[in-house]
Amino acid sequence: MEAIDRFFPLLNTPSNIVITSHQKPDGDAMGSSLGLYHFLIQFGHNVTVISPTNWADFLNWMPGVDKVINYEQFKHKAQTIIDEAVIIFCLDFNILHRTKHMEKPLAAATCIKVLIDHHQQPAEDEFTYGISLTNKSSTCEMVYDFIVASGHKDKINTDVAKSLYTGVMTDTGSFRFPSTTASVHLMVAHLKELGLQHSEIHSNIFDSSLEGRLRFTGFALLNRMEVLYEYNTAIMYIFSQDLKRFDIKTGDTEGLVNYLLSMQGIKFGAIVIDRDEERKWSFRSKGDFDVNTFARLHFEGGGHFNAAGGRSDDSLDDTLATFKKILPTYEQQLH
Ligand code: 5GP
Ligand code: MN
Repeated sequence: MEAIDRFFPLLNTPSNIVITSHQKPDGDAMGSSLGLYHFLIQFGHNVTVISPTNWADFLNWMPGVDKVINYEQFKHKAQTIIDEAVIIFCLDFNILHRTKHMEKPLAAATCIKVLIDHHQQPAEDEFTYGISLTNKSSTCEMVYDFIVASGHKDKINTDVAKSLYTGVMTDTGSFRFPSTTASVHLMVAHLKELGLQHSEIHSNIFDSSLEGRLRFTGFALLNRMEVLYEYNTAIMYIFSQDLKRFDIKTGDTEGLVNYLLSMQGIKFGAIVIDRDEERKWSFRSKGDFDVNTFARLHFEGGGHFNAAGGRSDDSLDDTLATFKKILPTYEQQLH
């Protein structure tokens, strides 16, 4: 993977460009994709954002989201666009299999691939150019840095600003995680100077739940949570019938895992959700417990030091039993 500044000259030659991110894109994946989209179209590029899967309804207010193609829904159309791409930007993921069914088409594409990402241990040899910085708050912050470093800061318009703010805000837990550096605040200060209305964005993201989601949260906290005080750990497990009962949609379970860490003394929170085709884990920690390594070693996953995800083909009961069996080996680290 070559340094990103070697890529900058290519910005000036209009090309077919695809931007993609990880499956079930979150605020950072969608925000960085759309932020980059609104930047690149100003050079006359023909740009398409392709999401590997659907996304949460609370992202549907974002500028340009109506033009995003869902690969699972429009596979044929998306494939044609990938085939014609000269440059593919891969944002907010470190390894191609995070794009689910797009893994093969992306691996097969022989065009220029550019990585911009902040996850640990990226597969750098899969990309032509790129930036991988694991200490960055978000991919949105990295796209902002990319724009500034390319010498085109003047192209940060309202749509770029709204999109990039979304990911920096969601990935920092509304500016509270340790990844919230001075550079994050300087970026936000710049976006505010350009006229960004930040409270509208918070409201669009956080004040748009349906009643069922709130009732589901209450149900899960009451009936699906276990606190393992001897390991300073809390777990939550959601059956597929729970998702059906409360009509839970993509994105509605986001943030649930953070409740676990809000309990006094809890250093490790884990939630597993039965998604039918797989059991999906989310791991969060406070302090020096490394959930990236934990997810990699035991649940085919990865992510960041304090926030990671994983998966299992086992039943919900079996994967929970595996988790509980492993936990005692981490007793010392969790004290
Ligand atoms: P979440 O728990 O919110 O789904 O994910 C937490 C972090 O871990 C995110 O940065 C996400 O991109 C990453 N992540 C989630 N699931 C996986 C996975 O299965 N593999 C890898 N490598 N990263 C994951
Ligand atoms: Mn991210």
